[in-house]
Amino acid sequence: MSDDQLTFQDPVTRFPDITPPEQDQPEPGLDADLVPQTDRGEDSYRGTGRLEGRRALITGADSGIGAAVAIAFAREGADVALSYLPAEEEDAQHIRRVIEESGRTALLLPGDLSDPGHCTQVVEDAASGLGGLDAVVNNAGRQIAIERIEDLEDDQWAHTYDVNIRAIYRISRAALRHLAPGSTIVNTTSIQAYNPSAHLLDYASTKAAINNFTKGLGQQLAPRGIRVNAVAPGPIWTPLQVSDGQPKDALPEFGKSTPLGRAGQPTELAPAYVFLTSAESSYVIGETLNVNGGTPSP
Ligand code: NAD
Ligand code: MG
Repeated sequence: MSDDQLTFQDPVTRFPDITPPEQDQPEPGLDADLVPQTDRGEDSYRGTGRLEGRRALITGADSGIGAAVAIAFAREGADVALSYLPAEEEDAQHIRRVIEESGRTALLLPGDLSDPGHCTQVVEDAASGLGGLDAVVNNAGRQIAIERIEDLEDDQWAHTYDVNIRAIYRISRAALRHLAPGSTIVNTTSIQAYNPSAHLLDYASTKAAINNFTKGLGQQLAPRGIRVNAVAPGPIWTPLQVSDGQPKDALPEFGKSTPLGRAGQPTELAPAYVFLTSAESSYVIGETLNVNGGTPSP
């Protein structure tokens, strides 16, 4: 790709307008088995030293958006601890290789964030393994579509809340003893926080909670020099969508109703996380940066 192509591109056609076939993977899905494959920036993300020397913990960093953020952070000069589920080892090893080929450290921390003890452990392991911690990206999430509230069971509700919002609270709290002024927390919320789908009652309500939590904690930590922000993706092609995140018949149309007319690729999210983590966003706090292909949001 020439420099011209990188710096001046039509967003409608920069990435293909995909029509994914109906497919199913057990939760959590793997990028390795996704059809079509996604762009996480392996071949395209070019860093400019914006996160030089930073030490970041990224949850859900094996695949999808988190993997794209991990690659971007490494290319920007950060060392990265990757949190993911043990079943995702194949995806995590791929991202580890990409980070190491970028000349940075990748620390692999498999485990289940619905376990409160693991939320604390992953922070401690990241800080000791990276020699400190000054950036956290709370990106892990689960999304299981259930058509009728009568079929939405207590266990499913509690599990979604544990992974999507309680883990953010637990990891943020545990990380504070390591975070010096200048450190950042970026949480992954969703367009679902404002435009909930009828079949995502548990998931969408956690995303609204994440937006609210981000604004509250952002105010609390600002005087301590620690900034908290969020990124709200729209429809991004990732394994989340094929491991029951969407009804199967919705997959071919995924993302086509956005103003841009196509689903987003994970690498298109990465610059938002880089911006909110780098010192250049020093006056941005409690903000939710929407990266959604043009759907209006509050
Ligand atoms: P993904 O499946 O690639 O990433 C989600 C990750 O969450 C998994 O890789 C897994 O490592 C992690 N995870 C799930 N359950 C876990 C658990 N119990 N313990 C530890 N880790 C666990 O999919 P993605 O779409 O890249 O999702 C990343 C974030 O983006 C999620 O918070 C999701 O809600 C959010 N999001 C995605 C979209 C989209 O369209 N893909 C849109 C809005 C928001
Ligand atoms: Mg994954």
